[in-house]
Amino acid sequence: MSFVLSLLPGCPILRIGYPIEFLFHRVVGGICRISSPTDIGAQDATLTFLQQAQVKRSSRHLPRILGISGEGYRTVYLKLGIALEADLAIVAAVHEAIGDAAAIRVDANEAWTRFEADRVVPRLGALGVEFVEQPIDMHDLDGLAELRARTGVPIGANQSAWLPHQVAATIARRAADVIVTDPHQLGGLATFRDVAALCELHGIPLIKHAFGDLGVTTAATLHVLGSLPEPQLGHQTHLQILEHDLLAERLTFTAGCLQVPTAPGIGVEVDRDALRHYGEAFESIGEYEGYSPRDSERPTGSR
Ligand SMILES: [Mg+2]
Repeated sequence: MSFVLSLLPGCPILRIGYPIEFLFHRVVGGICRISSPTDIGAQDATLTFLQQAQVKRSSRHLPRILGISGEGYRTVYLKLGIALEADLAIVAAVHEAIGDAAAIRVDANEAWTRFEADRVVPRLGALGVEFVEQPIDMHDLDGLAELRARTGVPIGANQSAWLPHQVAATIARRAADVIVTDPHQLGGLATFRDVAALCELHGIPLIKHAFGDLGVTTAATLHVLGSLPEPQLGHQTHLQILEHDLLAERLTFTAGCLQVPTAPGIGVEVDRDALRHYGEAFESIGEYEGYSPRDSERPTGSR
């Protein structure tokens, strides 16, 4: 089903394909009393996740970064793209603070021109970053390929590789060392597994991206991640920074890792009260603006 939906890029039905697939695993797994690991092929696996940090001024946030590494996370993820020298100062400060306790991954979200990337990426490489995610425009696959060839610094494709055909093109153009995408963007768990197989064939790591995932998404995706070969790089999630979730029992991290759930279905139970609460919030406030066009008729401050 997800494969069929993925053939319809831009089709609104893509937005319902993923929940339907979750529902399938949840209901059928529950009835048959089998878990998705059995269904999808996941092992009894533990997956590593990274800790994200949006750093504006390194000195003020360093204790928080140090706290993160102290929780056992092996990868720290920094959003860059503020200004070249400020970006470098942040990475240098974090590197000095955490040493080898965790890898430092940086994401520029297309902030730099080719000219800027040529100057900043080698300096980031000298600071030992794990890879630089989406340094330049998502459409500039030639630029990404030339950047990684020229600098020797590993490059991650994220916005360049949302959809299956984009992942294939990115790999074919040798534009990335790492693919970062997620089941929501791809259209479902099955397509995510297909893309994982494509990456595996080419020896390129696949990293689960997170778009503010709740526990249901993370639990479902764990089943696919648990079926992939080890070792894997740290995957993204937002569970560590959520005040609340929709799960009756939250997923818990141990030294920065989550285990593949083994209970029937996708292995989690939904908190019905929380679901009702956020359903009412959605009805009265609307969708988070990062995920929908701004409604010009909605009163200011109503989101
Ligand atoms: Mg990214």
